[in-house]
Amino acid sequence: MAAIALATLALVAAFAFQSSSAQAPTGGVVALTGARVIDGTGRPAIEQATIVINTNGRIQAVGPASSVQVPAGATRVDMAGKTIMPGMINAHGHLTYNKELGDPVREQLIRRLRAYAEYGVTAIVNLGSTEADELEGIKLRDEQSRGPLDRARVFTGGLNARGKTPEEARKSVDRLADLKVDVIKFHIDGNPNDMTTETWSAIIDESHKKGLRSYVHVFYLKDAQAAIDKGVDVIAHAVRDQDVSPQLIRDMKAKNVAYIATFTRDLAVFVYETRPSFFDDPFFLRGNSLYRFEVNVLSDPKRQETVRNNKNAQAIKTALEQNMKNLKMLSDAGVAIAMGTDTGAAGPGNYGRWQGYFEHLELEYMVKAGMTPMQTIVATTGAAARATKLDNDLGSIQPGKQADLLVLNANPLTDIKNTRQINSVWLGGRRLAAPETR
Ligand SMILES: [Zn+2]
Repeated sequence: MAAIALATLALVAAFAFQSSSAQAPTGGVVALTGARVIDGTGRPAIEQATIVINTNGRIQAVGPASSVQVPAGATRVDMAGKTIMPGMINAHGHLTYNKELGDPVREQLIRRLRAYAEYGVTAIVNLGSTEADELEGIKLRDEQSRGPLDRARVFTGGLNARGKTPEEARKSVDRLADLKVDVIKFHIDGNPNDMTTETWSAIIDESHKKGLRSYVHVFYLKDAQAAIDKGVDVIAHAVRDQDVSPQLIRDMKAKNVAYIATFTRDLAVFVYETRPSFFDDPFFLRGNSLYRFEVNVLSDPKRQETVRNNKNAQAIKTALEQNMKNLKMLSDAGVAIAMGTDTGAAGPGNYGRWQGYFEHLELEYMVKAGMTPMQTIVATTGAAARATKLDNDLGSIQPGKQADLLVLNANPLTDIKNTRQINSVWLGGRRLAAPETR
């Protein structure tokens, strides 16, 4: 009991969002004034900016204070000294149920989406449900348009599409389309259990017939190239066996195929060979109520030893280096890069993919790989929204877009780690209540 009480105290301390003069708005017109605004398009930050949010929770106007008029009666929120960027979008996440946690499916999925939101990740694309959570995920997606949100938005692919024959594969896409999923995801793992080219090509073709974009899980260059040749829309994991080829780069640009690196997914394969130092990072401990179960499992020295002795896990260290090299090459070449992490995949094979914390670590890795802070911010905002066709509503601070905002106490353009200096998170124009007040 004492240990639990102590842990709870530490948690409350870690959760204490730095308060600002902002009051939680009540749904009227709101004007955020005096902040630096990074709008998610890649354009230079606007200093001393004003953002006007209308009663529908959308951006009405944004620009330098001198050019934006604050409507009479608007609630003004002083954001001097803050940096405001769009809420982060994770273009490759998961919303899956882990029955080991013991809570009901719906409650747990909501907790998981709250964790994302509290870390400033205001939307995720779920690239793979399990049977236990597929329908609930779709329901939560439907509910998010109906009122004030206190969790991240979710867009979902349902179960991964698959089939033993092209006909079966098409049927699996049809079933998903009938459920009204947002995207279709399938796997080419590069092993003998893979679907034949004919079968996975049928998935891409059927997705397009149903108006859905297709995302592919790959590891090998040849599989990424084959999928692009057959019209896939998004490469959902990095090429990690060799340098990306000039042909791949050319084709990705010509066909506007987006690329997601998921560095932290690779990291999660080997990093628990010892106790990672981030387990003690106060920013990590913010997520402790959700993370605790897996932290305990991963802290077991016997489990750590199995990771140290696992050849495949060790081989991913090299793959991660290749991954970083390829991201830099693709980014420099002008390929559309979207931030994604593979977080939230639940169950014993996928422990240690921390929704919320890892999105910030992913940005740090993207900068380590050679992208600029501005490029990584675009990858997790405007470009992530474009890659997932959510850009009508999300991903940038521009008139008409949802006011999903991440307000920071420090400028992430000077140090990407400043995305962790969270002042507040806004969803549809409302400030997310600090966790301890809920
Ligand atoms: Zn995934």
